[in-house]
Amino acid sequence: MASAGFVGYWFNQSLAAILLITIAYLGFAFYQIKRIHLWLIQDHSNSEANPPESFGLWGNVFDGIYHLQRRERQASAILKNIIEKAQESSAAMEMAVVMINSKNSLDWWNTAAENLLGFKDPQDRGRAISNLLRDPEFLDYYNNEEFSEPLKLPSPKSADQILEFSLTRFGKGEKLLLARNITQLHRLELMRKDFVANVSHELRTPITVIKGYLEAIVDNSKDLDEKWRKPISQMQQQSARMENIVQDLLLLSSLETSNITTSQSDVRVQELLEEVLNDTAQSQRKKAHHYRIECNSEDTIHVEHAEFYSAVLNLVVNAAKYTPKGGEIILSGNNSDAGYKISIEDNGLGIEAQHLPRLTERFYRVDASRSSDTGGTGLGLAIVKHILARHGGSLEVTSETGEGSCFSCVLPESRVVRSHLEGKEIDTEAEAQINPSRL
Ligand code: ADP
Repeated sequence: MASAGFVGYWFNQSLAAILLITIAYLGFAFYQIKRIHLWLIQDHSNSEANPPESFGLWGNVFDGIYHLQRRERQASAILKNIIEKAQESSAAMEMAVVMINSKNSLDWWNTAAENLLGFKDPQDRGRAISNLLRDPEFLDYYNNEEFSEPLKLPSPKSADQILEFSLTRFGKGEKLLLARNITQLHRLELMRKDFVANVSHELRTPITVIKGYLEAIVDNSKDLDEKWRKPISQMQQQSARMENIVQDLLLLSSLETSNITTSQSDVRVQELLEEVLNDTAQSQRKKAHHYRIECNSEDTIHVEHAEFYSAVLNLVVNAAKYTPKGGEIILSGNNSDAGYKISIEDNGLGIEAQHLPRLTERFYRVDASRSSDTGGTGLGLAIVKHILARHGGSLEVTSETGEGSCFSCVLPESRVVRSHLEGKEIDTEAEAQINPSRL
């Protein structure tokens, strides 16, 4: 403009020259804006047209846009490549993978999902998961949002196939559904259960006969040669042990194969603990342990009485077996964050940390000689774990060698019976000191 004004000055037309150059510049700027506008409104999803070219300031602006566009294209090509690879690899998987959006409808699934779950592309895209997988058990699992354990169900496509479903949350309210075919595994598991149940059942009669004859021999031991006394007494001990193992195996297989009975009732924790304690203290009289119950006399839980009694009894008998003479055993019941906790604490031998994760495996023993001394079968804690799982609960163990152990049955809140006295102070903390020597 200054130059135009200067040139115009020579012809005595400065103002006209400035006006002219301003109009020309505005026209040029408007033309460039129009070009970039036309480029911007193009459909860039399919075409790869570059921004227009120019010079000067506008040239710099267009170049800047071009570089940004190139970087964005490279990034999206990399992302597209990754997505394609992820889709290809999950398409090759035998496991069904389904992406469910925050509105609970299907976004994407792989080929295995079509084979295992019967989804159809593209008809089912965007349909609600509840319209495609209608099994009430699956819907409960899906709606409860508690996905820590997988769910086993027959396939919606063929009832002969058993699938294991698991769900994971990701992104903003989205879910990833995985389903795998476990038909073979399920059959093997059924065969194993049947085999154990049948063998245990078949062994019951011979053991009872052997035990009976051994008892008859011991009853008439006065006619027995001295050299046979020890072997016969050992045979008697071992046959009793065999009988215990068979009984425990039968109990385990019935816990595995049957559903929890409907005969559940409200059980007062203190009464249950007293019952268990009396039975244990009687059988372990010689060890003269000091027992104590610490629990609110009003605390009530809703459980299958016989099963739950047997679980707590197992833990208290273990505490008595693995605590030396004169030791202390505390049976307590407390409300906990998860619901209700019944703990059996002893100051006995304790267990080394490396054994803790495997304690509830069948026949797992910390020390075989320690267990055979006490007549253990190695099945007690497996039974306890099963019983608690049937009640929606779990077993927690803490222990330190030489210091003692604490086994806790954790029951969910739904198992706690909240009375109308709730909130009022109940001052009946029961502390029953039982001296086993008097029993
Ligand atoms: P067992 O019939 O051998 O006692 P369990 O399944 O009841 O079988 O227990 C498994 C193992 O855990 C036992 O062999 C024992 O070594 C250990 N155990 C269980 N309870 C206790 C406890 N209170 N103190 C120390 N060790 C224990």
